[in-house]
Amino acid sequence: MLTFRSANIAFGVLLLILLVLDMQYKVPALFYILLVFFYSLALFYGSYFVQSQFYMKTVCKADTAEKKIALTFDDGPLNSYTPQLLSVLSNHNVMATFFCIGKNAATHTALLRQVHQQGHIIGSHSFSHGLWFDLLSAKKMEADLQQAHAVFKKELDCNIKWFRPPYGVTNPNLKKAVERMGYTAIGWNVRSMDTVAKDEQGLLKN
Ligand SMILES: [Zn+2]
Repeated sequence: MLTFRSANIAFGVLLLILLVLDMQYKVPALFYILLVFFYSLALFYGSYFVQSQFYMKTVCKADTAEKKIALTFDDGPLNSYTPQLLSVLSNHNVMATFFCIGKNAATHTALLRQVHQQGHIIGSHSFSHGLWFDLLSAKKMEADLQQAHAVFKKELDCNIKWFRPPYGVTNPNLKKAVERMGYTAIGWNVRSMDTVAKDEQGLLKN
């Protein structure tokens, strides 16, 4: 499996080979450009595909042959969707996991507690879920995760264990922050693409 470590080793070895060859024969600059291009491509792939396990371990499926799915909902709790969602789940007696954004949880505490009281699992989805979250240092990411953790601890009186990376993006700093928090990172293997769905039928099909 391609990981950050194996990509770094491959990049280092290939760069060394190019440099050695360059001392004897003139290696065209194109080879260096291609090496950097493919290395960058590997880093991009690792960051944007949560199932890749490139930077860190993320649980994306269960090891089972049973026909079961685990439903997860991100970004709440929100007055506009969460109550409807809770009602549908309750009508069908289905349990799910809600990866809540800390700042939403802090402003919708009753709703957060309702999700918890109905027996669903609450996971953290960071405090800010900021657009630039993935560019933060490991320290700042950890501080953000701590802030969310404190909200869940205060409102639910329990320690959150599960974490979903905002946007599903992973990188070495997030790995450090998640490890320091003692969280297990959860990804997915099927995505409804509800944030970009143009019509109800298309979304239903997904
Ligand atoms: Zn999200």
